[in-house]
Amino acid sequence: MSGRLAVVGLGPGDPRYLTPEAGETLAGVDALYGYGPYLDRVPARAGQSRHPSDNREEGARAIAALRHAALGANVAVVSGGDPGVFAMAAAICEQIETGPDAWRALDVVFVPGITAMLAVASKIGAPLGHDFCALSLSDNLKPWPLVERRLDAAASAGFVLALYNPVSRARPWQLGNAIERLRRQLPDTTPVVFGRAVGRTDEQVSVTPLGQAAATSADMATLVIVGTRETRVIARPGRSPLVYTPRATAEVSV
Ligand code: SAH
Repeated sequence: MSGRLAVVGLGPGDPRYLTPEAGETLAGVDALYGYGPYLDRVPARAGQSRHPSDNREEGARAIAALRHAALGANVAVVSGGDPGVFAMAAAICEQIETGPDAWRALDVVFVPGITAMLAVASKIGAPLGHDFCALSLSDNLKPWPLVERRLDAAASAGFVLALYNPVSRARPWQLGNAIERLRRQLPDTTPVVFGRAVGRTDEQVSVTPLGQAAATSADMATLVIVGTRETRVIARPGRSPLVYTPRATAEVSV
């Protein structure tokens, strides 16, 4: 019997953001692996085993899931948002590349989900309406000077920035440092969107000019979008503002 491993994106939180494909895949597996709070979002079903693990155990989780699938089981590993964005899909590929040959013979599928930057953007307009890039501010898996270099390069090239993993208990200072750096390149008026726990009951989305943006506005469940010189805020009477980046850019700004 040949095993199967599905790497499934759950979306940002609201069950309505789970795709039908993801729902069907999760319903059909023998075993579920993932970070505990993500697994808690998957309805319990008779006959399915659940294997929760800690946030920073992606490598060990990937190995456990691959071993289980190699025994012939139908296994799913879940990620919040999309599994290919700073999540389990790459962790699984890393283990397949370096692991036993049997893992290469497995049927492996990746089931996409709505990633946090798209969910946050949808709550406030179209901040990602033109060229953008996504960066993780975590220096767990790369040196901080590289993060700084990428921030500088992306901001100077005129990309909107979607910043994942802006802070954590172990990394309290990175976002403040990043904001300071971006202020050297971008006007103080540049809109900055803080989207917290989007799709969950405690969702909060706000926009602040870069000159007043404070790292204390973000926590582990926050995605930060930093606009460009072109990004605009439309004030609306009695309604929250819209933030958007126009589709056309006339100037070659450096
Ligand atoms: N695979 C996930 C990202 C994992 S990295 C995805 O595609 O969304 C974890 C980071 O994602 C968090 O630190 C935060 O920056 C962001 N994030 C995840 N869920 C979020 C949500 N519901 N609202 C806002 N940001 C979220």
